[in-house]
Amino acid sequence: MTALFSTVEPLHPAPSRYQGGLTEAGAGVHAWLQPNGLLGESNAALLIGAGSSLLIDTLWDPTLTRRMLAAIAPLVAEAPIETLVNTHSDGDHWWGNQEVVGAEIIATEAASAVMQTQTPGEIKRFRALARGLGLAGSSAIPYPRRKETAVVAAYVGEALRPFGFDDVRLTPPTRTFSGRLELDIGGRVVELIEVGPAHTPGDLIVWIPDARVAIAADILFIGVTPIMWAGPIEGWIAALELLLDLGAERFVPGHGPICGADEVGRLIDYWRWLERAAGGRLADGSAPAEVARALVLGDEIVAAGFADWLGPERALVNVRTIDAHRRAAAKLPGPREIVDAFFRMALLAHDFDARRASVHGGER
Ligand SMILES: [Zn+2]
Repeated sequence: MTALFSTVEPLHPAPSRYQGGLTEAGAGVHAWLQPNGLLGESNAALLIGAGSSLLIDTLWDPTLTRRMLAAIAPLVAEAPIETLVNTHSDGDHWWGNQEVVGAEIIATEAASAVMQTQTPGEIKRFRALARGLGLAGSSAIPYPRRKETAVVAAYVGEALRPFGFDDVRLTPPTRTFSGRLELDIGGRVVELIEVGPAHTPGDLIVWIPDARVAIAADILFIGVTPIMWAGPIEGWIAALELLLDLGAERFVPGHGPICGADEVGRLIDYWRWLERAAGGRLADGSAPAEVARALVLGDEIVAAGFADWLGPERALVNVRTIDAHRRAAAKLPGPREIVDAFFRMALLAHDFDARRASVHGGER
């Protein structure tokens, strides 16, 4: 087993914060963990029943998914994966579906509707744009904001660098539901519970009562700042409270290491803190981007204990979503808004790192 772990290093350049690879989460339940839980470093899970298994999520591209399936193969030799659940519509949880041949693929009706609107082409165009910016940013000709251009190009370029979308054949769900759905996986009862809209419009969590394990997917980000594309914040908090009420002993997040109830509570704390801290400033008329910058670069986030979570710049998206709900104008961001959000996040991440470096006397 140890040899296996060592092959799952972070995809982005940072030292591993926890052990990756195949990890037992409970009786006959295994998590596939991808440190450090940043963009596209997504987890999946496997439940093994008598003669049949359930895979919960695939990864962002076919290559990463094949690597995971190869690690899982000995476990499912007698119990093939006949069912695949996609927990939500983000590509890093289902763009590897084509590799799970012949399985029934289940998602919520709401997630499936969003999946229909996606194409890997959009993300490839985004990557090309970053390359173009990189060329522009390295140009010898000075022009306004050249430094910003270089920062954005580096951030977006790195965010997408580990992934290969050329071979993705989008393979959407074959069965959808709303509310709750109980499955029998080789004699084991599994409950799918729709908890969206929260992270995305159609989030679900998977409750495995006989192992006391909850697969929380992207309702839980551990050690990583969560990103709220859909909201509302109350919906996300309600989903976390539902998770706590299940009586689970262990939780498998969509990003980050396996955790217990305390970490679930910390995420509730983050949302309550952000709602309070951002809400007051938004009510005073500040723009969401300004509010997020002030919070991420200020002392409050340090005092609240959230400055060590990776990706603090995601507060930009979160505050924007909070604001949209306040104004009753919430809608899922389109490609344009996502590009804009990434550009702003790049600059904020850069400023956050610079500030931390100066606070720590340049030790970074
Ligand atoms: Zn994810």
